[in-house]
Amino acid sequence: MQFELNLSLEELEKRTNKDYLIRKPLLKEDAQEYIDLDKGDKEALKHLAKAANYANLIYMKQDNELNLPFEKFLNDEIKKGNKQAELTKILFDAQLGVIGIDSESKKVVLLKGAKESDGKAFYPSDLTKEEFHSILKNMLKDGESEEVKKILNQRTIVKRCGNKLKGIDYTEAFKTEFESIAKELEAAAQTSTNKDFNEYLTLQAKALRENNPMNDAYADKKWATLQDTPLEFTISREQYADLLTGTVIEDEELKKLLEDNNITAISKDSIGIRVGIINKKGTQDLLKVKNYLPVMAENMPLKEQYEQNISSQDDNLQTMVDVDLVSLRGDEGSYRGGITIAQNLPNNDKLSLTIGGGRRNVYHRQIRTSNSPEALERRKKRLNATLNTDLHKYYNPEADHWFTIGHENVHSLGPKSGTEALGKYKNIIEENKADMGSLALLDCLTNEGVYTEEEKKQILVTFGANCFLKAKPELSQAHRVRTVMQAYFFIKEGALSVNKDGIIDINIDKMIPAANKMLTEIIQVQLSQDFNAGEQFIQKYFNWTDEIEAVSKKLKETDKSLNGKIETPLADLLTNN
Ligand SMILES: [Zn+2]
Repeated sequence: MQFELNLSLEELEKRTNKDYLIRKPLLKEDAQEYIDLDKGDKEALKHLAKAANYANLIYMKQDNELNLPFEKFLNDEIKKGNKQAELTKILFDAQLGVIGIDSESKKVVLLKGAKESDGKAFYPSDLTKEEFHSILKNMLKDGESEEVKKILNQRTIVKRCGNKLKGIDYTEAFKTEFESIAKELEAAAQTSTNKDFNEYLTLQAKALRENNPMNDAYADKKWATLQDTPLEFTISREQYADLLTGTVIEDEELKKLLEDNNITAISKDSIGIRVGIINKKGTQDLLKVKNYLPVMAENMPLKEQYEQNISSQDDNLQTMVDVDLVSLRGDEGSYRGGITIAQNLPNNDKLSLTIGGGRRNVYHRQIRTSNSPEALERRKKRLNATLNTDLHKYYNPEADHWFTIGHENVHSLGPKSGTEALGKYKNIIEENKADMGSLALLDCLTNEGVYTEEEKKQILVTFGANCFLKAKPELSQAHRVRTVMQAYFFIKEGALSVNKDGIIDINIDKMIPAANKMLTEIIQVQLSQDFNAGEQFIQKYFNWTDEIEAVSKKLKETDKSLNGKIETPLADLLTNN
């Protein structure tokens, strides 16, 4: 296949320069965390790192059908000494695909003419939303509800079949990669020193080989109980990438037909893998907050109107670990505007939650802590340019971690079901809930002695200062859209303000009441199970105002970074021999 590179040499040189390309190094080969592992765990880690590499292949296939052919083309060109291809490959490996998004929310298209569709490569690339809806309606009217169920399932790749569609289970679509991962997991289970971890690896290997969603449920259920293991391994199935499946509820007739056939459309799982070593000290700190989940649940607004996601009695349903990262691959490792700093899995649609399974929070140490001289310098410049000097004393990056702990915990609170009805707005609203809950419950956690008054102020100020982005995001960027909504809401409530020079001021006393107000509104929207209510909620607050623009301009002046990439020195060494 003949391809043409899209970015000029000049543009590529800029974007791969150190001021523009942020590097996030994971554990190195001489890391004490690795040296301290038992021999058996070191051996297991090698297999897990190998397993992780297969996730890149799956992710690229799910993301865009041109990814793998283009990668081959780049490799061939590099062999011929093509400098432009060499620099393109750096960005390709960083964002893991022909099209990504940078930190200013601009699309980075590496292959000339490449397009991406809402259904990514989970669906045929030429399938429009309208045709998708019309085919599904015809199939349902023809009594093919079983096939439609497969098409709208989280674990199928959808192909054309004449003038219809069919869903191919991941275990078949990614048979080769899944089998390779399963073999490595079984090998790891032979030497790893922890019995529970090995039991999980064995269950997970089975789930990868058989077309039976219950196997995933058993593996997830076991995974979520892992609290005290030396190693960390996760196959993540996040659903932010697929923007097509959720649209079925936008067509009234189709929505009705699906309801009549008892079908809930669930967005596709995007595959990623994380490998790491559990950090004992960091994990101890996280567990301190865990004891307060019941009292947090008691303090959630409108709690009498819904069943809580996690019941307040059952202690085993929520585990949490802090992890030193060895490898992030596939959906976990593709740098598109950033890398997640923590995750709370499995998501609400997963079967394990229906058989008494819990959730597990995993925090990414090497992603959140950046104490390199460049990172510190960038931070100082940013504060000087955007935050009222009187507030600098409260700004604390560690407080951002405390905020994240609250965020992840609040994902486990709130309404348990029905949020699929919010369609494409589901993620923005859920992420918003987690943020606002994290702030709204601060008084409660401070009363309980988890945080001091000073620490509470640090969390509020650090949140307020981080509430502004370098550029207006696309509606598809759930994690960013909600940040704009919050900035707008908090300005409206008088908790934040921006002067004519783009300097942020924070009225600390108004922060928690504002968060409470927004959280209540969010839970009302979730409880409504009404797509239009969700849409109105987003439209009301997703406003890029002049004040927000003023801060954004200052941020762009002080921080040039556009792209980023993770570096995995230890994993690279382990997988090379
Ligand atoms: Zn979240």
